[in-house]
Amino acid sequence: MVSVKKDSEKKVYGTYSNRYFDSPVPENKFPENGMPSQAAYEMIHQELNLDGIPELNLATFVTTYMEPEADKLYMENAHKNFIDSFEYPQIKKEENRIVNILARLYNAPEENEFIGTSTIGSSEAIMLALLAHKWNWKQKMKSKNKDYSSPNIVFGADTHVVWDKFAKYFDVEPRIVPIDKKTMVSSPEELIKNIDENTIAVGAVLGTTFTGAFDDVLLLNKMLNEYEEKTGNFIPLHVDAASAGFITPFIEPDLLWDFRLNHVASINVSGHKFGLVYPGLGWLIFRDKKYLPEDLIFYVNYLGNEMPTYTLNFSRSASNIAAQYYNILRMGISGYKRIAENMMANARYLASEIKKMDNIELVSSAEHIPVITFKQKHKDAFDLFDLSSELRKFGWIIPAYSLPDNASGTVLMRIVVRESFSRDMANLLINNIKQALNNMGRRQKFEMKSPRRGHAVT
Ligand SMILES: *Cc1c(COP(=O)(O)O)cnc(C)c1O
Repeated sequence: MVSVKKDSEKKVYGTYSNRYFDSPVPENKFPENGMPSQAAYEMIHQELNLDGIPELNLATFVTTYMEPEADKLYMENAHKNFIDSFEYPQIKKEENRIVNILARLYNAPEENEFIGTSTIGSSEAIMLALLAHKWNWKQKMKSKNKDYSSPNIVFGADTHVVWDKFAKYFDVEPRIVPIDKKTMVSSPEELIKNIDENTIAVGAVLGTTFTGAFDDVLLLNKMLNEYEEKTGNFIPLHVDAASAGFITPFIEPDLLWDFRLNHVASINVSGHKFGLVYPGLGWLIFRDKKYLPEDLIFYVNYLGNEMPTYTLNFSRSASNIAAQYYNILRMGISGYKRIAENMMANARYLASEIKKMDNIELVSSAEHIPVITFKQKHKDAFDLFDLSSELRKFGWIIPAYSLPDNASGTVLMRIVVRESFSRDMANLLINNIKQALNNMGRRQKFEMKSPRRGHAVT
């Protein structure tokens, strides 16, 4: 983001940092002169050591581990600009293959001409998908000689912030349906109640970032069919499968949520989540090219060839795509399935142990994706925000956060179990949570018993 706080130009950095430094470097101003490579490296390396340890970051869905061969391909392709497909046609071919592979993984009908693109992440993919649906809606309204000045989009409060961003950035009225406290997702009936002629698309999530729960895409699809029968109006469904898109096809292949459902027009998935590639990589797949308006595709030819692009960004590294293709070839369906099953087993084990703890209630325990969430049973002297900071002392990064809208006031803690989180680490974490709860309890007792003064212990 742009500068939040204007820091003084006199603020300095690196004074006596190591053997190379005897004078300071300005922190917020371009330094007049450079420094030896080793000096710059050491200074930055030391500073970044204070970042959290990615393996202990249980807050994120994003990949923190790749095999050495994938790392190697990543570095080998880091200096290729992916968008220059004239100079680098091979990486473009790999992107194309992955789009085909994913469209088939999501059961796009073979008679359709499926189409798609890689993106920086699911956020870009979602913006591009919804933009296409907005465009199609506008064409539909124009062709009927109807007003097209007030588009709306219907989705649940259980969606990711990018859905709100899309609505704001692209000037579409968001119709946000609150979370049902029981299911932890938005009710399909409520979503359908909000649609009308001006609805560009309906959104569904697999699974929500709050609890990992799945929207009922099958029921939504059925209701959209009923609505279409009544009104003649086809409203497309976009499925945000950022996290589950690389889990569900492998472990629950019979669950109906993808292109087997006729209203599902587009799907996004994050390659950098359970696609097991470092950030940032996402994928957007349309069930048929008729959903991607030709108007929105730009043909760029200054690099020697006509190439179609549908992106918000332009230049970026080819690394992630090479790594994604490596993972697909290296693991196949059985490999992704094995990893997903391990993560699910570890998440469920962790849930079963956390469930036994005093004053903690599980909210979700890895029903479809390896995410567990829990809350406090009753108000105590400490809350989950305190537990989160207490666990940080052991190195674990586990966030506490409150639920949106009508479910707000509910504070949850969420753990995402990734491949790099082994059973041994699960056991360590369980012990650390117990210790943290103990520490907080002991401190609380101590504070109550000795209100006047304590004695330092040497
Ligand atoms: C992570 C996530 C996003 C955003 O994805 P990025 O790849 O980080 O841009 C959107 N929706 C859901 C459901 C997510 O889990």
